[in-house]
Amino acid sequence: MPTWICATCGNHYPDSADPPASCVICSDERQWVPASGQRWTTPAELDGDGRHCDIWAEEPGLFGLGVTPVVGIGQRGLIVTTDEGNLLWDPPGYLDGDAVERVRELGGLRAVTASHPHFYGAMAEWARAFGAEVLVPVADAGWVTRPDPAIRTWAGRLDLLPGVTLVQCGGHFPGSAVVHWAAGAGGAGALLTGDTIMVTPGEDRLSFIWSAPNRLPLPEPLIRGILDAVRPFRFDRIYGGWEPTIWSGARQTLETSAERYIQFLRGEAPD
Ligand SMILES: [Zn+2]
Ligand SMILES: [Zn+2]
Repeated sequence: MPTWICATCGNHYPDSADPPASCVICSDERQWVPASGQRWTTPAELDGDGRHCDIWAEEPGLFGLGVTPVVGIGQRGLIVTTDEGNLLWDPPGYLDGDAVERVRELGGLRAVTASHPHFYGAMAEWARAFGAEVLVPVADAGWVTRPDPAIRTWAGRLDLLPGVTLVQCGGHFPGSAVVHWAAGAGGAGALLTGDTIMVTPGEDRLSFIWSAPNRLPLPEPLIRGILDAVRPFRFDRIYGGWEPTIWSGARQTLETSAERYIQFLRGEAPD
């Protein structure tokens, strides 16, 4: 019996003879079901299409993880390495043996987690390969599509590894989170944010969204909740859910971007 993978979002479902009737992630207003209808794929089908994982260095101690051709919405994973074990963040919906071997060379995984349900993808498979635990915010536990005994819930803030902290921010989803990595950006600190805080294509601005495909904005109180959650942390760099990155000055960029966004929400801009 195959593992069913939603072709649109890349989330995995339990092994069964037939695919589920629908994908709960894509049926939600924050994703979409294609006009042509729900489509399912399987690991074997993805293998057959010639997919492969790539792992590359982002900066000392941090590695990127991607899949070519993309699966789902083209999620880009990040692996944070520490002396006491590694964290896999926002894994794409597909993994192969070469990627597992490469991660083993990096020291394996202690934990796997994601910024929000659109990136839960292959969390369980990655965790199983290394006996790692899967961390899911209790607020979003209902969105887990592939239950697994390795799942542990958390809330608020969680010191996961030395200098690696999970921070629940809310916003896009109630459990939307970021990772604060103290050693990132050469010791100035970095946030890994997924869709919780989005990096814009020009890499000079940050933004927020409740539903990206349906262009529904994030209300002001939820933006203020994100700011309150990350302000206690030291950081200079932000890695979003895809390639664009705020390489430096991210703390100030976050404040000015949020202020601009809120002006629009209030009808106070453009002037
Ligand atoms: Zn889906
Ligand atoms: Zn999302």
